[in-house]
Amino acid sequence: MFQAKAYGAASAKSPLASTQIPRREPAEHDVQIEILFCGICHSDLHQVRNEWSGFMPTVYPCVPGHEIVGRVAKVGGAVKKLKAGDLAAVGCLVDSDRTCPSCQSGEEQFCPNMTLTYNSPDKHTGAVTYGGYSDSIVVDERFVLRVPSNLNLAGAAPLLCAGITTYSPMRHWGVTKGKKVGVVGLGGLGHMAVKIAHALGAHVVAFTTSPRKVEDALRLGADEVVVSRDASEMQKHAGSFNFILDCVSADHDINAYLNLLGRDGNLTLVGAPEKPLPVAAFNLIFGRRSLSGSPIGGLAETQEMLDFCGKHNITADVEVIPIQKVNEAYERLLKQDVKYRFSIDMASLKGE
Ligand SMILES: [Zn+2]
Ligand SMILES: [Zn+2]
Repeated sequence: MFQAKAYGAASAKSPLASTQIPRREPAEHDVQIEILFCGICHSDLHQVRNEWSGFMPTVYPCVPGHEIVGRVAKVGGAVKKLKAGDLAAVGCLVDSDRTCPSCQSGEEQFCPNMTLTYNSPDKHTGAVTYGGYSDSIVVDERFVLRVPSNLNLAGAAPLLCAGITTYSPMRHWGVTKGKKVGVVGLGGLGHMAVKIAHALGAHVVAFTTSPRKVEDALRLGADEVVVSRDASEMQKHAGSFNFILDCVSADHDINAYLNLLGRDGNLTLVGAPEKPLPVAAFNLIFGRRSLSGSPIGGLAETQEMLDFCGKHNITADVEVIPIQKVNEAYERLLKQDVKYRFSIDMASLKGE
């Protein structure tokens, strides 16, 4: 074991502060990564404040972070995929049972025994896993991704959660050239969805409640922007979409969007509103429409997404911050005061 520098919370009520955490020495199949950037995902904030206590209680100290990019510092003797000096990334998963039907079909995100990057029981240390708000992490090579060298690293970090969360359902539901795709909500997830749908060749319509975001949505790659509060604007698109990705985690009228789907159209939820959403059955029955949800993606698909983003030079729009500003960033995240993701420059941890 060795000690790594990190930022973590000691309790649900405490701010994140400088701390030290144990990391295992890399075993045969392990990769030790020097973390360069880590994105701030809204899940980090929920977990740090124990807001998911019902199904995923937080174990303290909690070191969050699952949008990790860095450079390989050391590898175990059996590692083939990467070598010291290579760029590397880690997302939301650091392990799984590798034997269940989901793992066997490369969809580790559905493994009942997956190990999350933070706040999961750690098989190696017997304690809990610690995430990317740290100067290093040690992960089995199977769960380490390669990063295309042309990508800006600060902006590449959010691809590991926000990127794959939007890419995976679009691939699953066949988003491609000639398809009409809606993206609801222009935050961390939504802005990635617009960029990716555009690069996949779809006709992209962004929905926003705020007329202030119209310009930005067009810049990100939307072909059209609809201010969703305008009922007549919405009506113009009735029955016309192949696919809609709903990235909103606040309460909203999902029936208004189901109505915009064409025959066999699908609406996928990637935002998670706290309260159940009412769904009018006829909005699904007419047109044989479907409503579904989707979490991240498997390891193979995450690599495919990174390679796709490399080819199209897609990264998140980020505001880079030093780790010392992380508590302030959380407060701003709650006010949606970020365009569109915070990325922590981990060099700032050196002075702690
Ligand atoms: Zn996340
Ligand atoms: Zn499994």
